[in-house]
Amino acid sequence: MYSIAVEDEKSCYRLSELARMFLRPEEFSIAIGDCDSDAAYDLRIASRMDALRQAQILYDFLSAETGRSLEWGVLTGVRPVKLLQELVAAASATEAVRILTEEYRVSENKISLLMDVYRTQADVVYQPSPPSVGLYIGIPFCPSRCQYCSFPSNVYTQQGAERYLDALYKEMEAVHAILRGRGWNAESIYIGGGTPTSLSSEQFDDLLAHVSRAFLSQDTREFTVECGRPDTIDPFKLDAILKHGGRRISINPQSMKDETLVAIGRSHSAADIGKAFEFAASAGIRDINADLIAGLPGESLSDFEESLERVLAFEPSNITVHTLAVKRASRLIEEDRDVSFRQADTASQMVALARKRLCSDGYRPYYLYRQKHMAGNMENVGYAKPGAESLYNIRIMAEDQSIIALGAGGITKMYYPAENRLERIPNVTNYEIYTERIDEMIRRKEAGII
Ligand code: SF4
Repeated sequence: MYSIAVEDEKSCYRLSELARMFLRPEEFSIAIGDCDSDAAYDLRIASRMDALRQAQILYDFLSAETGRSLEWGVLTGVRPVKLLQELVAAASATEAVRILTEEYRVSENKISLLMDVYRTQADVVYQPSPPSVGLYIGIPFCPSRCQYCSFPSNVYTQQGAERYLDALYKEMEAVHAILRGRGWNAESIYIGGGTPTSLSSEQFDDLLAHVSRAFLSQDTREFTVECGRPDTIDPFKLDAILKHGGRRISINPQSMKDETLVAIGRSHSAADIGKAFEFAASAGIRDINADLIAGLPGESLSDFEESLERVLAFEPSNITVHTLAVKRASRLIEEDRDVSFRQADTASQMVALARKRLCSDGYRPYYLYRQKHMAGNMENVGYAKPGAESLYNIRIMAEDQSIIALGAGGITKMYYPAENRLERIPNVTNYEIYTERIDEMIRRKEAGII
């Protein structure tokens, strides 16, 4: 048990995050104490140092004690690509690499991944013009709840969805009026969740009709619908997507192993995944993303490799490789508190294997983000065939465009380029409360979207 003293609450929180990447929660305590006293702490970190220096001291101490180093070094943030972009803009790529290596302790391997993402983005992205926004529309329903889910998703019911959609249409109408008043257009539209295709065929068709009427214009460059669960996808819904202007979808296998799919609470089989890809191919949808998760409970490296090969055989234009993140809101953490630690090494091997295999097959990494509690402290990486990169995914990570989020749990982020500042306008997360308080959600947007 390591006992570490810091002098203020902020450092305590930040440094605990870093310590958790080396140690299980029961193996350390970080408390507020007097760093100049003689009390028996294993390490004292004074507040007079800046945050980076404090993190370096803790990192070097734990690295020496455990004999381990972390691939992401002292970085605990969600957006390492953004940090790289800022470092390059402030000096040069060479200096950015030096700072990441020496000051942030990032491994050569992860720096090369960051550089690959950075180069792909530099190839495909231009600066957004201020009048354009990204639009996110959330449908918080799924056919069942995955064991690792930490989203505010609900099991679909016809009436619940009916009430929710009525409120959502009200919010859409208000946002449409706000955008029209400002002369802004949606550059990208993303319908996510949850699983939007959990809706009944009529509800789904109606939703798309509303979205397309309110927001689709000749300036819209991308319209994505997350289909997610293969068992919610059928030819009618795919035709509806195309009819209303959608062009990109995602079908998310997570794993192609039937035992794993049962264990994680998915209500479909690997065969259903194959069927969903066949439906999409027959409908003529070419831009498909497939999500896989590295580090799922009970999965070995060869299980993951087999899933990856089977997914590659479907020839999706995008594959996103997530690392299992077991958060407090998931059922998995109650059942298996230790899974992230147990799967840490395997998850890192899976992530490395995916990168090698996908790059050899012509995919390029184009967006990357990290979350708390990820097995092996890895990352989530979106890979795409050249030209198939999702603009929405890049923008949301870059935080250089306003993203207006509709629906329960949606957090609008207004971007002000002159000050390089973001302002958040949150909607409530619970869908029933959202429905009841829809007028208030609208008022928040009317006041905040400026
Ligand atoms: S499909 Fe996604 S949102 Fe739905 S329950 Fe599973 S993890 Fe949660």
